[in-house]
Amino acid sequence: VQTPGAVFFIFGATGDLARRKLFPAIYSLYREGKLAEDFAVIGVARSPRTPEQFREDILESIREFCRYPAGESDEWNAFVEHFEYKALDINNVDGFRELRDQTERLEEKFKTPGNRLFYLALAPELFGSVSYSLRDGGMLESRGWNRLVIEKPFGYDLQSAEQLNEQIREVFREEEIYRIDHYLGKEMVQNIEVIRFGNAFFEPLWNNKHIANVQITLGETVGVEERGGYYDHSGALRDMGQNHMLQMLTMIAMEPPSRLFPEDIRDEKVKVLRSLRPFTSDEEVSSNVVRGQYTEGEYRGKQLPGYRQEDKVDPESNTETYFAARVFVDNFRWAGVPFYIRTGKRLPVKTTEIVVEFKSMPNNVYLGKKYKLEPNLLVIRVNPMEGIYIKINAKKPGSDSEIQPLAMDFCQSCMIGINSPEAYERLLHDAAEGDSTYFTRWDEVATAWSFVDRIAAAWAENHGELHTYPAGTWGPEATGKLLEQDGFHWWPVNGQDEDSVI
Ligand code: NAP
Repeated sequence: VQTPGAVFFIFGATGDLARRKLFPAIYSLYREGKLAEDFAVIGVARSPRTPEQFREDILESIREFCRYPAGESDEWNAFVEHFEYKALDINNVDGFRELRDQTERLEEKFKTPGNRLFYLALAPELFGSVSYSLRDGGMLESRGWNRLVIEKPFGYDLQSAEQLNEQIREVFREEEIYRIDHYLGKEMVQNIEVIRFGNAFFEPLWNNKHIANVQITLGETVGVEERGGYYDHSGALRDMGQNHMLQMLTMIAMEPPSRLFPEDIRDEKVKVLRSLRPFTSDEEVSSNVVRGQYTEGEYRGKQLPGYRQEDKVDPESNTETYFAARVFVDNFRWAGVPFYIRTGKRLPVKTTEIVVEFKSMPNNVYLGKKYKLEPNLLVIRVNPMEGIYIKINAKKPGSDSEIQPLAMDFCQSCMIGINSPEAYERLLHDAAEGDSTYFTRWDEVATAWSFVDRIAAAWAENHGELHTYPAGTWGPEATGKLLEQDGFHWWPVNGQDEDSVI
């Protein structure tokens, strides 16, 4: 579907996110015919750029990060014609008035219907100021709709998120605000709904009678790269837990929505977040959440620094680069089923996977106790491989009664490969379309923060040991104990070892 005509404003147009994700996403949408002809893009940041320099920035970004080739063609020239740049400090209201004039000129040139989409690829501290400047500079007096797209992190805790939200809400209505959690734009995260609600195999079993536990892993091989300053203030819990991890959990745990309207889906998701069993004491945090930090290590023959040696990180930092938690969703469907979530930097494999472990069959009456049956697994591979893997038990061919686990593996990324749209393309497209399903609503953000804040508060009081793990390993050993107490273990994720669930 083609988006309606609009002017897209990229605030932070000289930054990393614009370069790596946003320009490539706009170009891919353009190449796929998903952008209306009547579109324009205005990049905004403080650094000066001539029109030629800005186009050069875009060309470089697309050459490096986009799957479509760029440059030196009529098609490319027609595309960059739609781009302009405005050097502007977001506190400069006069500059916004100039931006308004520039916008009106572009709207006239490209005959857009007056719709304006403001994408803030900026530090969150600036979200409030930019909203005020947009209002005071007359940028919201448009003929069409205005929408604000904002990046995570949305606040540092519930209190700061509330302040931020109040500032933005002085200017924009909730339905005009699109809070990005780019995990929600991922193909397989969106596919969770279809797998669950579209298959008679799963939905009848999707509850505490048949599911033993759920494991969600988000592993990164990278360290903090150039983001040491930001990360040291944030840590894994805030950077990944409050948003991506809890969002994936809600998609697994939510009830089927009565209709597929954005609000119906988001209503169901927020119910899950409200059902998360809160940790009521520091001791509960310590026994259910493990935090870790990587130390020096070796990975594939390469020597890696420890977290405290990373650039812009406090050499005595206690910030966690890893966390794992045992979480319960206290509702009828999930009572008693543990959800184990873990995420970390400098793990050996880059992967995002969700494993749903089904309860074992009653002690194998049919085959005698000699053979131990493995539990059935449903594995949803989110990133970088996309697909679904089901593990079942079957008779070993040729044997009398030997049983072996068997894989039914659907590898979507192997089949569709690079054509699978990037999360940012999808989300940019959805925002322009006015579909907020895969953006987080304020009550989701707030509820997730209040859950996470309790953990952060215990850690701030030095409850919960800070474990270490060598870079390139699977995190602190204590993580395994979270599951062992319930009689489970982490299933190997794709690529973890030769026996992994591939
Ligand atoms: P970045 O590389 O530091 O870029 C920040 C941008 O903001 C630059 O273009 C900068 O340009 C501009 N800027 C800063 N102060 C400004 C001001 N007062 N007025 C106007 N422009 C100003 O940051 P980023 O990595 O792109 O991240 C942007 C946002 O996306 C952050 O909220 C981040 O948490 C989030 N995010 C980023 C990624 C990622 O992959 N990078 C992933 C997820 C979320 P000038 O210096 O030229 O003004």
